[in-house]
Amino acid sequence: MVHAQGLRKRFGKLEVLKGIDLTVERGQVCCLLGPSGSGKSTFLRCINHLEKIDGGRLSVDGELVGYRQRGTQLHELREREVAERRRDIGMVFQRFNLFPHMTAVQNVMEAPVRVGGATPAAARADALRLLGRVGLGDRAGHYPAQLSGGQQQRVAIARALAMKPKLMLFDEPTSALDPELVGDVLDVMRQLAADGMTMVVVTHETGFAREVGDTAVFMDDGVVVEAGDPRQVLVEPRHERTRAFLSKVL
Ligand code: ATP
Ligand code: MG
Repeated sequence: MVHAQGLRKRFGKLEVLKGIDLTVERGQVCCLLGPSGSGKSTFLRCINHLEKIDGGRLSVDGELVGYRQRGTQLHELREREVAERRRDIGMVFQRFNLFPHMTAVQNVMEAPVRVGGATPAAARADALRLLGRVGLGDRAGHYPAQLSGGQQQRVAIARALAMKPKLMLFDEPTSALDPELVGDVLDVMRQLAADGMTMVVVTHETGFAREVGDTAVFMDDGVVVEAGDPRQVLVEPRHERTRAFLSKVL
């Protein structure tokens, strides 16, 4: 589903991704870990067409990110085509960034109505079903300010799911939450994984990564230092850098 080969990204003189090789198969959960500044968010943003890549190849579901292939020729995607491809990818950020002036259900039905062409009635029914799925069936009429951080984050997950993505990206979805709210959000993600969603999750929740991840990837300074079975990478890392990092987050 996600295939990166020698992926490079720079901001001016700063090379942030220095040749990333990484594959996430359909239905798999890939957990990304690494120190601040190692390029984790930038990598997710590349997958989601939010950054233009400078080198290497990156494809999502067999299609090159940023390009359309015609025979052997590559054409840069137009804005509209980028928007179309982005609809297939759901993203959840550290900060919940819900629309503050809309209720939970309005947040979830917004994209399907505005860009998905759904009727408000159908979108609302679907949004209520999704809110039920994240355990918030009784909070549909609440505004973000009336919800806890963990509840807001679950609305954000429901909102991302409303466009029926084939891939979900999570960028430290629980790191802004009070500890007692983390579990509910991880439970929703665990259920999503069990339902077969392909997920790339930047997280320092090593328990989640070990239990739910099919692969764990440790990044440092723009490269993948090691990748593999989370129970190996996170329990018996081969590299000193991974070991040093884990000793700090655990
Ligand atoms: P964190 O754990 O703190 O979220 P990260 O691994 O997600 O870190 P990135 O956000 O990908 O790291 O940033 C990698 C590097 O790229 C950092 O040095 C950051 O300052 C730099 N960077 C990120 N975005 C930009 C930008 N738009 N312009 C310039 N530099 C950027
Ligand atoms: Mg980040």
